[in-house]
Amino acid sequence: MARYTGPVCRLCRREGEKLFLKGDRCYTDKCAIERRSYPPGQHGQGRRKESEYGLHLREKQKLRRIYGVLERQFERYYERASRQKGITGENLLKLLEMRLDNIVYRMGVGASRTQARQLVLHGHIAVNGRKVDIPSYEVRPGDVVSVRENSRSLQVIKDNIEAAAGRTMPEWIDVNLEQMEGKILAVPTRDQIDIPVQEHLIVEYYSR
Ligand code: SF4
Repeated sequence: MARYTGPVCRLCRREGEKLFLKGDRCYTDKCAIERRSYPPGQHGQGRRKESEYGLHLREKQKLRRIYGVLERQFERYYERASRQKGITGENLLKLLEMRLDNIVYRMGVGASRTQARQLVLHGHIAVNGRKVDIPSYEVRPGDVVSVRENSRSLQVIKDNIEAAAGRTMPEWIDVNLEQMEGKILAVPTRDQIDIPVQEHLIVEYYSR
């Protein structure tokens, strides 16, 4: 399954803000944005005026990178979102939010979406009691996402669960950290998705 394998912090520096792609490190002063908040590359510190197209493109890239989705797959999400009823930009965010790797991250089982994706790929996660190892698997309201029995003693999962204890969980997932599971109560509304993007710019990017 294709995925981005290049330097991760570079992506944040390119977008000029923290995308929280590395878990705990993102909250420390080791974060590359804290140290070098200018774009990467030879001309990163030069003056640059972004065109309107550039602004739309950057917003699309930012959202794509936050969820760790490659270009073609992102386009397919957009096409689906635009065919659905309602506001296309919001539909797009909701589709991305319902990915299994995102749910595992939201529950605190994965420290980052990248790590959550690995946990899914390595077969540590179940949906409704059955192993699902597809990170893009679309979870639905009523589904129960859990850590599989044999994976509950994995140190990385135990550490993440410990770190997540006391954290405010999304209202739309009923998370039980002791049981290492969460029940999806609903598709989140836009105001329940704390992603710092202006999705209308992404719609404009695809409508050009
Ligand atoms: Fe981005 Fe996290 Fe790297 Fe900071 S540490 S630049 S937030 S991935």
